Amino acid sequence: MKNIKVLIIEDENDIANIIKDYLSVNQFESHIVRTGHEAIHYLQESIPDFIILDLSLPDCDGIEICRKIRENSNVAILILSARGSETDKVLGLGFGADDYMTKPFSLSELVARINAHLRKQDRWLQHNSGQVDIIHIDNMEINKQEYAFLRDNKAIPLSAKEFELLFFLAKNRNQVFSKSQLLDAVWGYDTYGDENTITVYIRRLREKMEVNPSSPVYLQTVWGVGYKFSTPNHS
Ligand code: CA
Repeated sequence: MKNIKVLIIEDENDIANIIKDYLSVNQFESHIVRTGHEAIHYLQESIPDFIILDLSLPDCDGIEICRKIRENSNVAILILSARGSETDKVLGLGFGADDYMTKPFSLSELVARINAHLRKQDRWLQHNSGQVDIIHIDNMEINKQEYAFLRDNKAIPLSAKEFELLFFLAKNRNQVFSKSQLLDAVWGYDTYGDENTITVYIRRLREKMEVNPSSPVYLQTVWGVGYKFSTPNHS
């Protein structure tokens, strides 16, 4: 079995070490970096399977790091924040994080969440192997092999979950799904999000893929039911 590598970006030594120890007990390999600069440097050399990112780092804001990571990678990112009031901001503004936890947090829950993301990725790959993996709609390409979304041949970075939600809707285009169906389909049985998560992700995807996000052509709300990926030019 392949070793799972976790990158811990955290400047508080106690917290970083506790996480590292706990991960090691749970058979994860992990590496600690303490600044944003070190994190970016590390990521130029290595590709972790999962990233735990503290929001307040000595040399920069974790959100900046999150954005930078997303420019090149779809690795799952869990934000650790001491500032509970910022969780909405973190999740809502499209910085590309997949999950967050507020300090103080439970180590066993942290591991459960890492496992959930990793299982989800596996399941996602298995579930879709041998099936359609590149979808072309108008000027867009949604490429599951590379987890890439392109518009006019230009890549637009999406987080893993944003991509999965988009791919699911595009694959089943013109079909309406409720928020809870989308949560099941994309977040799966280990769901800890609520239905607001879907609202947030849809808003984020619209900002990234729609010409006019407030009047979406593709990601349409079906009032009282949910959402669908509409293809007005090909119906
Ligand atoms: Ca910190």
